[in-house]
Amino acid sequence: MNDSLEVTSVPSPERGVDRRSVLALVGAAGLSAGLLAPAGSASAAVTLAETAGDVYTIEQALAEAQQSAWGGHQNGRVPASALTAVLSSVQGSGYLRSDAARDYFSMSLAFSSAIGRPLDITEGYRDYARQQEYWDRYQAGTGNLAAFPGTSNHGWGISCDFGAGVQTAGTPAKRWLDANGPSFGWSPTGNGFSRPEPWHFDYVRPWDGAVAEQRGLGVVVMRCSQTLPAVGAGYIAVAGVRYLRHLTSLDMVNASRVVGVPYYEVSSSTFLNALDALSVPRSAVTGGADYWRR
Ligand SMILES: [Zn+2]
Repeated sequence: MNDSLEVTSVPSPERGVDRRSVLALVGAAGLSAGLLAPAGSASAAVTLAETAGDVYTIEQALAEAQQSAWGGHQNGRVPASALTAVLSSVQGSGYLRSDAARDYFSMSLAFSSAIGRPLDITEGYRDYARQQEYWDRYQAGTGNLAAFPGTSNHGWGISCDFGAGVQTAGTPAKRWLDANGPSFGWSPTGNGFSRPEPWHFDYVRPWDGAVAEQRGLGVVVMRCSQTLPAVGAGYIAVAGVRYLRHLTSLDMVNASRVVGVPYYEVSSSTFLNALDALSVPRSAVTGGADYWRR
């Protein structure tokens, strides 16, 4: 506790307190300021970024974030091996908690049937360093709303920022996902942020640790992030012994994932070595590859 930090030093919300300045004060106090309710105003709702509830201090935010903890992991420091890989635009964010991922795959397929395009993820899991970066930009006034590092649900692998039109309020895509996401466990929580984020959804079901990828199917989905001869970079295929099928849409990828096919993001050398191990000729890797041999 920093005794020099007086509650009265916090500008009154009635005078138009900027939440950033409140948080900067708390941050300056070494994150241990305790309950720092805005002086004389119980009604001023000062939510602390990316949370729908009223959180006044970083300490409170950290405590609230602990309620979403799972698996003994720390926020933003969950090992990739404990998460399920998904496709996402922001590099390094293509992971979700396994139960959240399972229901995302189902939801994406339903979304695609209704809206006519797959439900792509802009950003899923966010590690601690990236959250710090977003927080710093938010504090500087140059970035979106961002939670204090260690408190975002993105750091637990249970938040997604969606594209596919969902990022814009009022679109058919956004309306569909608001209406149907909750039946898959995905709630449009971003609507309730102090600065609404239509794209932000949280997976609100309790952790189901029993959901893990089934690894006995005999096939894997591999995405090669590096350039491969004849097909370039970003080639995705489902592969098994003497079997290779090029997956050309997110629907195809997610349809395989929904039944539990494991997914790996690999280098070109790993990809080609895997094909060798599976007795798939390297010449089978083409834009139209659909290789199967008894
Ligand atoms: Zn988000």
